[in-house]
Amino acid sequence: MDLDLPAISQLLARAAALESQDPLTRDRILLKRRIALLFYESSTRTRTSFELAAKSLGADTTLVSSLSSSIEKGETLKDTGLTLRALGAEAIIIRHNSSGAPWLLEQETRLPILNAGDGMHEHPTQALLDLRTILTHLDLSSKTVIPSEARAASAAEGSAVSSSTLSGVTVTIVGDILHSRVARSNMLLLPRLGARVILCGPTQLLPDSAANAGPGISVERDFEAALRQSQVVMMLRIQAERLAGLQIDLGQYKDAYQLTGQRLAAHAPKALVMHPGPIIRGLELTAGVADGPQSAILEQVRHGVAIRMAVVERALTAQPKEGRA
Ligand code: ASP
Repeated sequence: MDLDLPAISQLLARAAALESQDPLTRDRILLKRRIALLFYESSTRTRTSFELAAKSLGADTTLVSSLSSSIEKGETLKDTGLTLRALGAEAIIIRHNSSGAPWLLEQETRLPILNAGDGMHEHPTQALLDLRTILTHLDLSSKTVIPSEARAASAAEGSAVSSSTLSGVTVTIVGDILHSRVARSNMLLLPRLGARVILCGPTQLLPDSAANAGPGISVERDFEAALRQSQVVMMLRIQAERLAGLQIDLGQYKDAYQLTGQRLAAHAPKALVMHPGPIIRGLELTAGVADGPQSAILEQVRHGVAIRMAVVERALTAQPKEGRA
């Protein structure tokens, strides 16, 4: 993510402002501007929320997905991008299975490109919506994250962030860190705001070298020990599509890393439970935890629309070359 803290603060403030704006005035902001969504991988939340966000600002959107387009016939990313530009697209939102695809597309088209997830590399808007979710639960005076709906009015939401906004907050990311672009984007973002990030998972999915991933990041293999230190627990799906032959014993995995109601109650009864989705009930977490009072999973989805409105607006109103989140 190539955004500095003032730019992130601005996006958070715009997300809050756009969310509360009258839809009938909001949809003049990008009236009739053309935005293409180019998806080479499946998506439910990211694609829909980007599309709803762009439409909420009045833009016209079109979806090209690898399974119903000339991509299936062998068209390259470059030619697809140039075609979309020739059709009048002023920005492209791309999800691709290869890391770096958004940069290539930007070089070839010179359009603002928004990264909706590139391979195992990054998912910047997911990290921004995760940050917004955490901020809405952050009690600024005590620097604690409060999962309940009865929390103090979300003072931190929409306000400027600094390198100490999340100091004292520990976020544990659990599961398939190795293949997760969500983990990577959160590891890049959260420590910059002062959060401590614990990575937790088996060696196959979390190599020892991850302990050197950056300041504020450490590895803890014992899930319950990690839970005891956490104010936020971010559960991840095992990325079956990226395992490339790696065999995981799911029984052992669940024994060690599944977030159950019992584990949560015993070790992190006040933690906020997050997950980028799609959730696999009964694998990385139980249905009771997913639907339980500590879960912020659907809130994350809701924040996705607001964050993506701000990101899309920025892409189409910023100077050229500043468009990528
Ligand atoms: N939806 C997230 C992503 O696209 C997480 C996942 O697929 O597990 O990376």
